[in-house]
Amino acid sequence: MADATGFLKFDRELPPRRPVDIRIMDWKDVYLTRDGGEDEVYPVSAVRTQAARCMDCGIPFCHHGCPLGNLIPEWNDLARRDDWTEAIERLHATNNFPEFTGKLCPAPCEGSCVLNLQESPVAIKQIEWEIIDRAFVDGNVQPQPAQERTGKKVAVVGSGPSGLAAAQQLTRAGHDVTVYERADRIGGLLRYGIPEFKMEKAVLDRRLDQMRAEGTRFVTGVEVGGSADDDLSTEALRAEYDAVVLAGGATIGRDLAVPGRELAGIHLAMEYLPFGNRQALGELDDPPINAHGKHVVIIGGGDTGADCLVTAHRQGAASVTQLEIMPTPPDRRATDNPWPTYPMIMRVSSAHEEGGERLYSVNTEKFLGDDDGNLRALLLHEVERVDGRFQKVEGTERELRADLVFLAMGFTGAQRTGLIDELGVEVDGRGNVARDATFMSTVPGVFVAGDMGRGQSLIVWAISEGRSAAAAADTWLTGSTMLPSPVVPTSVALR
Ligand SMILES: Cc1cc2nc3c(=O)[nH]c(=O)nc-3n(C[C@H](O)[C@H](O)[C@H](O)COP(=O)(O)OP(=O)(O)OC[C@H]3O[C@@H](n4cnc5c(N)ncnc54)[C@H](O)[C@@H]3O)c2cc1C
Ligand code: SF4
Repeated sequence: MADATGFLKFDRELPPRRPVDIRIMDWKDVYLTRDGGEDEVYPVSAVRTQAARCMDCGIPFCHHGCPLGNLIPEWNDLARRDDWTEAIERLHATNNFPEFTGKLCPAPCEGSCVLNLQESPVAIKQIEWEIIDRAFVDGNVQPQPAQERTGKKVAVVGSGPSGLAAAQQLTRAGHDVTVYERADRIGGLLRYGIPEFKMEKAVLDRRLDQMRAEGTRFVTGVEVGGSADDDLSTEALRAEYDAVVLAGGATIGRDLAVPGRELAGIHLAMEYLPFGNRQALGELDDPPINAHGKHVVIIGGGDTGADCLVTAHRQGAASVTQLEIMPTPPDRRATDNPWPTYPMIMRVSSAHEEGGERLYSVNTEKFLGDDDGNLRALLLHEVERVDGRFQKVEGTERELRADLVFLAMGFTGAQRTGLIDELGVEVDGRGNVARDATFMSTVPGVFVAGDMGRGQSLIVWAISEGRSAAAAADTWLTGSTMLPSPVVPTSVALR
């Protein structure tokens, strides 16, 4: 039974971030890790106090806010009572990888928390992280190999969070699962997109150890449908496996077709961030795209842009400016954005705490270069919304100095060449692989999960889709399933 009055006694409190002037000198997590002293600044008593703020509402709106359907009030109460063993059991019941979401999720659950009616939700995401991180430290995350083998073989193509979730579920259901990844390491965007300062790679690696011990097989450096000698053809894929889960992500970055795009110094965000990640891991001293000493402009005000901003600061950029075509968000919910939907408000993320300028309601008219074909500036103008469309505010043109531009305006869908074209699966009007209500593509036995089917989204959706696609594939292979299916392909966030 929860403490029904905890929220009246205790304020919301999160662990402190490391000081900006210290963390900017390294690539480590912006928060202290447990090894680095997290327990001193945010002891277990603080976590229990925060968990005690959950009043176990009759209708837990947080459940509906979380695409995984995490049993939030249950594990909040277990954390409050210091029962960490049972808490991780309840958390793992709905989420294969609470450490990924505990670090990286934008926490729509907190937007839906009843206490968010007063803008002070339970610290759900932090409690989630504390439960799983303690479980690893205490040895409570052990391999869960299947009791019986089915003899069926499943290939998962892509090793991001959706592929990993599907692979873990199907392995535990007794199938022989092989994950193919074209990059040199497993993890998808968790490995080479999302930087070390948001989630250290060690957090990913310890989960992969568990998956290997359960029997999931990982093959890296192999593109399914690729043209290199070591790649795997789609014919070989279909011949060798009884079912396939496509989890290749939405990897085509949205470009900006304005005059001057061909100038040297303009890159898609995902051309830049993987080098930054390798630099953070000590594998590259001088990355081929390096912001050191440069004036950097990031086009796109979202998470990917913020990751470019933090990376550029750590590389020693002379200045960083982030541009956003949308207007400055309000400080509080607008009337058309009521609780329990996700609050679209101004936030100061850890990235923006470290500096850089944010410009809103601006658009890029063209890129300007020097005589050698190098970028030297952007020509901007302000915009206003008229009948739902952005219109230029005449007379607001101005130049903004730029040596480097990163385009972080989202992704337009899955890569068509190779895998998709050769398998012959249909693609929908938004560039995603089409699937039916059971996550199956137009090719029987080929399922689709994560950004490849949903379009650019979030880790929490990728994991929930991976779980659901695994349940569908298990049913296809065996006629029934015990695996949970938290979402359908058409599920959307609360709105
Ligand atoms: C820079 C950045 C930061 C982000 N930050 C956050 C965040 O903080 N929080 C959050 O919730 N979400 C964040 N996201 C979104 C989140 O990372 C994605 O929604 C999520 O990773 C999608 O998972 P996925 O498994 O579908 O695909 P991905 O993670 O994209 O993985 C797909 C994998 O498939 C591989 N692949 C593709 N085709 C083939 C093939 N033919 N053969 C073999 N391998 C193949 C790719 O190499 C890739 O590794 C971020 C995205 C970006 C780009
Ligand atoms: S996965 Fe995200 S939405 Fe779900 S409980 Fe965790 S932080 Fe909240």
